Amino acid sequence: MNTDKLSARLAAVAKYVPNGARLADIGSDHAYLPCFLAKNEGLSFAVAGEVATGPYQSAGRNVLAEGLAEIISVRMGDGLEVIGEGEVDCITIAGMGGALIASILENGKEKLSSVKRLVLQPNISAISIRKWFIDNNWELIAEEILEEDGKIYEILIGEKGDPYKPYSSNQELGLLVGPFLVQEQGTTFKKKWMAEMNNWERIYAALENAAQSPETLEKKQEIIGKITLVKEALTNEDSKWT
Ligand code: SAM
Repeated sequence: MNTDKLSARLAAVAKYVPNGARLADIGSDHAYLPCFLAKNEGLSFAVAGEVATGPYQSAGRNVLAEGLAEIISVRMGDGLEVIGEGEVDCITIAGMGGALIASILENGKEKLSSVKRLVLQPNISAISIRKWFIDNNWELIAEEILEEDGKIYEILIGEKGDPYKPYSSNQELGLLVGPFLVQEQGTTFKKKWMAEMNNWERIYAALENAAQSPETLEKKQEIIGKITLVKEALTNEDSKWT
């Protein structure tokens, strides 16, 4: 991967950044995403935010080497603290856990008033982001799932709107697996949730062999609930969830 050729995962994120956006890419690492977009005339301005010194320096080096310092401002700081109020209209956060992404949004809420679109790529726990959207009046408008190098990634796109719109029925399932993805029933979606179910079944079997404390029983109930939910979603392909 470099500033000319993104990974399939980051290319999918880039696709959802509107043309001419004023972007903040939080956790930018090498700044590949904003550099790629700026080189392809997709941006009018960008902030590449980084909390760690090494990635911050790497982002700065790449932006300079590409001659993009007038378009991309590389800033060091935690989450959304690197942007000013009203400065950007689109935020990308990719390659972190969903809970961390949700906490970055939660801690920087006051910076979101001018933001029209969030493009988020959690490595795990997309449910944390879907729940944050519901709690904060962001509407999930699209989702994507893809596999690269043996790993499966989800991309969630949000805009301000009706947070319940994608979930007109079976919200619990929609939050867990994605209301758009469950409707599409793509091969990668099925692969991800078959693997998750196998994993839950392994954990359940281990819990069966452990001492049966109230915590163990609660964990077993939780796993059965998730397996039942996902099994239904995968076998009932004709059903409508939204
Ligand atoms: N976004 C790039 C991508 O998707 O390829 C880089 C992902 S990298 C795995 C995650 C980056 O997020 C790291 O460089 C890390 O330092 C940065 N990061 C983690 N927590 C952060 C925070 N609270 N604020 C800013 N950057 C953060």
